[in-house]
Amino acid sequence: MKHNDTTRRILVTGGAGFLGSHLCDRLLADGHEVICADNLFTGSKQNIAHLRDHPRFEFIRHDVTFPLYIEVDQIYNLACPASPIHYQHDPVQTTKTSVHGAINMLGLAKRLRARIFQASTSEVYGDPVVHPQQEDYWGNVNPIGLRSCYDEGKRCAETLFFDYHRQHQLEIKVARIFNTYGPRMHPNDGRVVSNFIVQALRGEPITVYGEGTQTRSFCFVDDLIEGFVRLMDSPPEFTGPVNLGNPGEFTIRELAEIVIELTGSKSSIVKRPLPADDPMQRRPDITLARERLGWQPTIALRDGLVRTIAYFDQLLSGHRAA
Ligand code: NAD
Ligand code: UDP
Repeated sequence: MKHNDTTRRILVTGGAGFLGSHLCDRLLADGHEVICADNLFTGSKQNIAHLRDHPRFEFIRHDVTFPLYIEVDQIYNLACPASPIHYQHDPVQTTKTSVHGAINMLGLAKRLRARIFQASTSEVYGDPVVHPQQEDYWGNVNPIGLRSCYDEGKRCAETLFFDYHRQHQLEIKVARIFNTYGPRMHPNDGRVVSNFIVQALRGEPITVYGEGTQTRSFCFVDDLIEGFVRLMDSPPEFTGPVNLGNPGEFTIRELAEIVIELTGSKSSIVKRPLPADDPMQRRPDITLARERLGWQPTIALRDGLVRTIAYFDQLLSGHRAA
């Protein structure tokens, strides 16, 4: 394919997952050629089924812990299970995916002189003692706990990105993503938004872990993807790390109550034990993203939840939405 100044060939690792599939949609809509590489550990072909016959889309089944030899102009590195249930299922593989995956994708970017984006996470802040979290906060992470395979893997990936930048002058873009939700979340991955909606739609008890006083900030997927693209297209000297998330902060109990209200469910709320190392509070300071990317979320929690509930409603009744 002949490329003009604005059309690029772009690799999305983890492109069959929740965020990755939305990113593929967006990049194709912007006129790019997209290669999606995914080992389908937590992603699914269903998430990208609507793209199968798209002339500018290609799927490769590939595990990023192994090298990949292709020719692209840009790389978005999203491959990594994101939900605690999934990333704790095979913790050694989770660390390998983050660390070996980063080394392989950075090596590819270095050979191609391609700009590379890393999907990092608010988990690099651990259970933060600084609130809200700014990018210059170094975090409070347990290095040997159940969440460490993910948190430390992502922290090491950030280190690798910045060392490739300093040592090899690679153009890097590091996004620290805060909790994001929306259509195509996996219904059984145990994340709070999908759990609560599925439980409410089935009329099952809503499982609040601990007292439900812990907080999270929830960003709708469309807002996040806009942030990804703005970061990737930002001037070369802007590397991040930059927080991308919605600064609206809710307790988990509040979330349960909103989901019950919006679904009209008769579900009760039940308490379950709080998982180990569960962060007590989390809210992004997005000043940097506002200033450098002109980005901020536009979709309020209730509006995003209505759209996500509609998706799960269709999914559970057997009519899968695209
Ligand atoms: P997801 O589990 O839906 O998607 C991850 C994708 O990566 C899946 O398609 C999976 O099959 C693939 N994958 C996993 N291991 C792989 C490997 N070794 N090789 C190739 N592919 C592999 O999760 P998501 O929510 O879409 O998250 C995408 C990225 O964003 C992840 O890197 C995650 O850490 C990051 N992130 C997500 C959130 C969020 O709230 N969704 C928050 C912070 C960071
Ligand atoms: N949580 C909950 N009930 C559930 C699933 C999660 O109370 O059924 C809580 C969990 O303990 C955490 C918060 O919701 O405090 C967000 O959990 P999630 O797994 O979605 O993301 P993370 O902890 O990685 O932010």
